[in-house]
Parts: sequence; structure tokens; C-alpha cells
Amino acid sequence: MTLLDPSTIILMSTLMGGAMSIVLFSAHRSFPSEIHGLDHWARGLLCMIVGAVLFNLRAVLPSALVLLGANSMLLWGLGLSMIGTERFYHRRPSWRAFHLVWVLGMTGMACWLLLWPDFQARVAVFSFLVFGFYARQVQLIWRHGERHFATRFFGVLMLFQTVVVAIRGGLALFGSATSVDLMRGGTFASFYLATANFMALLLAVGFMTVATRRLQSILELRSTLDPLTCVLNRRGFADVYAKERAQLRRAAKGMTLLSIDLDFFKLINDQHGHAMGDRVLVHVAATIGKTLRESDHMARFGGEEFVVLLPDTAVERAVGAAERIRLALRAPRPEGLPVYTVSVGVACQRNAAEDLDSLLMRADAALYRAKANGRDRVEVAEPAGPPPSMLQAIRA
Ligand code: GH3
Ligand code: MG
Ligand code: MG
Repeated sequence: MTLLDPSTIILMSTLMGGAMSIVLFSAHRSFPSEIHGLDHWARGLLCMIVGAVLFNLRAVLPSALVLLGANSMLLWGLGLSMIGTERFYHRRPSWRAFHLVWVLGMTGMACWLLLWPDFQARVAVFSFLVFGFYARQVQLIWRHGERHFATRFFGVLMLFQTVVVAIRGGLALFGSATSVDLMRGGTFASFYLATANFMALLLAVGFMTVATRRLQSILELRSTLDPLTCVLNRRGFADVYAKERAQLRRAAKGMTLLSIDLDFFKLINDQHGHAMGDRVLVHVAATIGKTLRESDHMARFGGEEFVVLLPDTAVERAVGAAERIRLALRAPRPEGLPVYTVSVGVACQRNAAEDLDSLLMRADAALYRAKANGRDRVEVAEPAGPPPSMLQAIRA
């Protein structure tokens, strides 16, 4: 029983490939520009479709023209997808190798078609060149792919395709011509035709899957960052605070929070304009960042308020860190930036039962004291009171 004849397989996958390339093109237009490679994948698929259409025109066009045209488009398309994968994983695209493979491949194909006609040699050359393009992508996915389902799915598809194409190359070299002639439909030839066509589509689906997963990570990250200064926002800070609080029992010194507020920031906006105010905020974030350890966290809580969390840090050392920040911000600044100062409230948390709201309230109380006492200074908060359960026990 014939399941599908070769022309139907090619026609069906051509139509589906057309639809898939539209999906990739539209993803390229709408996804953030940090996600590279979608355009090369879309163009690669389009080239493969043109190749398949050419191949289907072999009844009306001279066969040498069809074979050379179709194969060159297929090879070009597969190479473009490799470039797409390289760009997706932020590798330098190997255009030189791509062009070299294409020129050598097509020269070989032309020689074994026109000068010394040899079908098996053509299949072997084409298969091993395609193998090179696929193997490079398997290597990229293995080395640079993030460890999640989408990468595994894409990697397994790519590996499968690499193995299939290598088997075809081997059969062409050592087997009979009929075993690799796609139009005569031997067992392996039919299997290859189906996998090569549908896998090209599935691979595009696989690529869309990793791209969508990357989009998700980028959006998640963006939702935790302040767009102006690129430090954490309130939401991102709440996440890192929760993690540090979970470790608090192991931190003998407790952890300390600094609440930092620019003094008379409204005046800077009024005198120098809002854009200059924004530049000051960026400068504040960069300068504070330089004074911190890798394990510390900084966030902008909207407006001109920043907070810093110093894990495993007792109050005395935290006051030292706050003073360093205050002095760093007073130091000579980039040309054009106005002079400004900050006030800092310091609150230390030793009790894992205290939550972020309470810690912030204590740090803010110290900050207001710093403002009331003349600004440009550091004040320390009162220690947290005993937890409510303990208070009840004392009163009882
Ligand atoms: P204080 O010393 O008491 O803190 O005085 P202040 O002027 O710093 O405080 P106030 O709360 O009166 O003013 C804060 C100003 O911050 C008002 C607002 O226009 C400005 N602001 C808030 N967000 C931004 C921002 O994203 N960019 C700029 N340029 N200004 C902002
Ligand atoms: Mg202020
Ligand atoms: Mg403020």
C-alpha cells in the first residue's frame, strides 16, 4: 500500500513550510530585538520552499536546471537556518564557511551532473554538506542551549535530522542508487523524503519553541527591572528579599537594609529639567552599584528612592557601607551633572519572622530622621520589637 507519493509529500510540506515561514517572519517583527536569528530561519525556510517548488516543476523545465536550482536553494536555506541558530545563541555567524560550503557543494553537484553524471556522488556530497550544517547546530544547542524542555525538544529534532542525513550520505557512498533515489521510493528513500520534508518544518517549530521560551525569560526579567536604571524594581526586590530571608537563620550577623533618598531632588528637576533628573538617577544607580559586593542587592522603589539589601551584614558594617555610598555620591561627578546628596536610613533584620513591610517601615523611619536632622547623613533604625506571639506571652 502506498501511503503518500513523493510529490504529495513535497507539495504538502511546501504549503506547511510557507505557513511556518510566515509565523517566523511575524515573530521576527514582533519579538524583542534581543532575540536574534528568527529572520534567518524565516528566510532559510523560504529558500527551502522555493527549492521544493522548483523541484516540482521538473516536468516542465529542463531537468539539469531544476536539479541545480532546487539543490542550490535547499542548501542555501539550510545554511541560513544554521546562521539563524548561531545568531540565536549569540555566536558569530560563520558566513565564510557558509559561502564556501555552498560554492564547493554546487560546483561538485554541477560537475557530477553535467561532466561526469553520477547520481550517488551527488547525493553523497549534498548529504555530507547538509550534515555539516546540522551538526554545527547540534553543537551549538548542546553547548549554549538553556537547560529546559524547549532546548531538549529542538536538540533532539536536530540530532535526529543529523543522523538521518548522515545515513543517507553513507548509503549513497556504499549502498545502491535505488536506496537513495527519492523518486523511486525505496524503503529508506521514502523514509528520508518524509523525514527530510516534515523535519524541516518540525525544526522550524522547534526553533519557534526555543524562541518563545527565550521571549518568556526576557519578559520575566523585564518585569523585575526598573527600565530607567536597569536595577531591580520593587517586584524584583521582593523576590530577592524572600530568598535572603529564607537564608536568615544561617546568617549569624543578620541582614541589613539601606533606604536611600535623594535630597531636594525636586529642585534638580525644577532647575535642570526632568531629563537631567533622569541622568542623575542613572548616575546614582551606577555609583551605588560600584560600592556593593556581588552578593548585595539594589533596587529602585520608584521616584528617587533606592534600597540596598546587604545579606549577612551586621549593622556596624552596614553603616560603613552606607557612609561609603553617601561619600561616593558626593564625589566629583561626570561633566554636567549637578551636585546632589543623599540621606540614608539603616535597619538590621535578625529575626526571620519580620517581613519586608516592617523592615522597610523601620528603615524609612530612620531615613525621615536623617532628613529631619539636616539631610546628607546616615541614621540607624531602632531594632525590631519582639514578634507579636512573644508580646502576648509577656503580657499574659
Ligand atoms: P527630600 O529631600 O525631602 O527628599 O525632597 P525631594 O525634593 O527629594 O522629595 P520630593 O518627594 O518632594 O520630590 C521627589 C521628586 O522626584 C518629585 C518628582 O517629580 C521626582 N521624580 C519622581 N520620579 C522621577 C523620575 O523618574 N525622573 C525624574 N527626573 N524625577 C522624578
Ligand atoms: Mg528626596
Ligand atoms: Mg522621596
